[in-house]
Amino acid sequence: RSVVGILALQGAFAEHRTALEKLSLSRKLQILLVKTPEDLAQCDALIIPGGESTTIALLARLAGLSEPLKEFVKVKPVWGTCAGAILLSQAVENAKKGGQELLGGMSITIARNGWGSQVESFEAPLEVEGLRDPSSPFNGVFIRAPVILQLHPTTDDPPITVVARLAPGLLPSGLATLNASDEPRTFVALRQGLHFLTTFHPELTNDNRFHEYFVRECVLAGK
Ligand code: GLN
Repeated sequence: RSVVGILALQGAFAEHRTALEKLSLSRKLQILLVKTPEDLAQCDALIIPGGESTTIALLARLAGLSEPLKEFVKVKPVWGTCAGAILLSQAVENAKKGGQELLGGMSITIARNGWGSQVESFEAPLEVEGLRDPSSPFNGVFIRAPVILQLHPTTDDPPITVVARLAPGLLPSGLATLNASDEPRTFVALRQGLHFLTTFHPELTNDNRFHEYFVRECVLAGK
């Protein structure tokens, strides 16, 4: 069985465990809440949950996990949701004063709290071309969510695939209408090589297609 760790320092880690347990693929998995470098060493893959990216990075440092996490990202599948997506990015805008420690892994630039204060949280239907049952939209739950600004893979990097995007025309009122140069802002789930990133919270809905995608495509596919 593959050991899927969930970084359990702060944020929505318990909800990820529940979502993984409900998968039909769950019999192929062992789920482990990760709090120490010893826990991480047992994992074949890792989920970094939503929460507060600066706090998660600080707690990781205090737990001695910063360097082990950076090494892990280089070789094993990692899925970052929301704050976890920020940590998995190569560059961040709107970082807190004093900066933000990142793990890298995805060749993108992301903006913290990028939807602005008037739309701190919203729900929106997503087009999910990369998932099972793609004609059925997914209800994306965004909470002080980051926004993807730019994709910049080099020729040595694995290509980036868009797995889900905000459906144009169905943006909640209050969000500025997006023009063509803003296209990356509509991307809300990306896959690059072993890694997966969602700027919203799939673990807060009962639709587990994103959990199924990560397990099938990133965790079990390489086995
Ligand atoms: N705004 C948070 C951050 O910057 C992320 C919010 C979330 O994970 N729901 O870390």
